[in-house]
Amino acid sequence: MSDCLFCKIVKGQIKSDIVYQDDDVIAFRDINPQAPHHILCIPRQHIATVNEFTPTQAPLIGKLVLTASNIAKQLQVDQDGYRIVMNCNRMAGQTVFHVHLHLLAGRPMHWPPG
Ligand code: AMP
Ligand code: ZN
Repeated sequence: MSDCLFCKIVKGQIKSDIVYQDDDVIAFRDINPQAPHHILCIPRQHIATVNEFTPTQAPLIGKLVLTASNIAKQLQVDQDGYRIVMNCNRMAGQTVFHVHLHLLAGRPMHWPPG
């Protein structure tokens, strides 16, 4: 997707503060952090929303979660705790239509979220 912000980050056309990358996923710091640690884990492949996930992408979806938990361990927030969130479409507040998993940590998280 040539006009997708996160595809541009994947291609290196927009700079980002990358904390992890491999052949399938990239993780980088959110430009507008909502917690002391706010990292986005995305697939390199363009997938617009969680609604477009297919069964064959199950390993990729799992890898996004594993990437987040590994980063949480590296940041040493795994024992205190953290939140992972994927917003889907308008009512959830999705603004970038390339699926991404938010990793939020470093402050108490309220439930239910606003
Ligand atoms: P969402 O509202 O779930 O679609 O989340 C999109 C997230 O992308 C927001 O938290 C934004 O702050 C973040 N974001 C937007 N542009 C950039 C960028 N260039 N680099 C890093 N994060 C970004
Ligand atoms: Zn994209």
